[in-house]
Amino acid sequence: MCGVFGAFCKNGESVLEDIYLGLYALQHRGQESAGIAWSDGGEGNVLSFRGMGLVHIALDQQHLSTIKANSAIGHVRYSTTGASDLSNAQPISANYSMGSLAIAHNGNITNASGIRRMLESRGAIFQSTTDTETIIHLMAHQSHKPPLDALVDALRRLRGAYSLAILLGNRLVAARDPWGFRPLVLGRRGDIFYVASESCALDIVGATLIRDVEPGEIVVIDENGLKSIRIPVKASRGYSCTFEYVYFARPDSMIDGRSVYEVRKALGCRLALRSPCPGAEIVTGMPDSGTIAAMGFAGCSGQPYEKAIVRNRYIGRTFIQPTQRVRNLGVRIKLNPIKSLIKGKELAVVDDSIVRGTTVKRVISMIRQDGAEKVHIRIASPPVRFPCYYGIDTPTCEELAAARLDIDTLRREVGADTLDYLGTEDLISAIGLPSPDVCTACFTGDYLDGSDNDGLDL
Ligand code: SF4
Repeated sequence: MCGVFGAFCKNGESVLEDIYLGLYALQHRGQESAGIAWSDGGEGNVLSFRGMGLVHIALDQQHLSTIKANSAIGHVRYSTTGASDLSNAQPISANYSMGSLAIAHNGNITNASGIRRMLESRGAIFQSTTDTETIIHLMAHQSHKPPLDALVDALRRLRGAYSLAILLGNRLVAARDPWGFRPLVLGRRGDIFYVASESCALDIVGATLIRDVEPGEIVVIDENGLKSIRIPVKASRGYSCTFEYVYFARPDSMIDGRSVYEVRKALGCRLALRSPCPGAEIVTGMPDSGTIAAMGFAGCSGQPYEKAIVRNRYIGRTFIQPTQRVRNLGVRIKLNPIKSLIKGKELAVVDDSIVRGTTVKRVISMIRQDGAEKVHIRIASPPVRFPCYYGIDTPTCEELAAARLDIDTLRREVGADTLDYLGTEDLISAIGLPSPDVCTACFTGDYLDGSDNDGLDL
């Protein structure tokens, strides 16, 4: 999962500060590296800066404020293909015979390795191990065509997930795969147009959400405004990622016209109706991922919601556990129950999903140590039984708790009194999109099949 952001200003105003802010708002989508690419205006040369780590560590805000550029893109990366190093940080930029370009990509191109092998056999030399670089090589392969035509030709050959912010010289281009896996939105503030992975990044720069980029659409933004063209691939159905609503996206974002916050509350409500916990004295959420669904659950069950588990917000991914004592503290360093709320009580604890099952197991053990009488676990999505191939770093089937164990065995394994999940139909109706428009592959194994045009006729 990654985040992309782009901006183009018609009147020449610099947009680099907006890119930096937009990436800040998208930090939850990737913490490994961050980068910005911009056009130098005159010749349409593309320059870039990339670094490892969080946005404020990877990018020198002071330095960026000295650069003037009216079109730019940015990226925050969470690796799903390619190693976690600077050579794979994005945006990826290149100069080829038809000009300069840079690409920021969210998603995972499922036929990238086949295309890469074919291009390498024809002499292409790849600089990184990311699937994104495939797009640049496919374009270079069509170097007799104008850059936009070469881009359209490259995209029609791809399968899988790509939401892209691209600089073609001084033009800003947004593109979303024909299946619509990952979100991508357009926004505007005065003379500045924006493209962003999520609408929360538009809010931070004071822009208004115009609309989502449609599946299979390419939007070209330049001095003349917006132009929309299509990727010539006919998708047999849509695959908008349901997990974006369940967990990945920020709750203050809108995806395909739906409020992520409202969807999460609806998921919790449906869970309460499908699998009530009549004896529970309080409903609480696993922070922060289960909090909103827990509020929805409590709202529909009529049971009181309490924020009974508190999360330390300042624990980074790199928290070191140098001694046995610190290792033993485990999850308590991150999450701590409020004992007075749970002692002697029967609890319904709502979370968004169970992946490996290790966190929920530790939390239940901690809650019991702190005196809870009974712990009912309710999960606001169906069991995750299959890996994602579309840009989310889920473990293999062997590591997925719900793939290894049936629900009752998993309940015993994690130490819950009861455990239940939401059904796939409830998930889809809470989102409110027609079922042929959404991806549920990590729950159902219903992957994008081979019937859609794979465009491999190079
Ligand atoms: S497999 Fe799951 S996480 Fe991946 S795109 Fe589909 S719904 Fe989203």
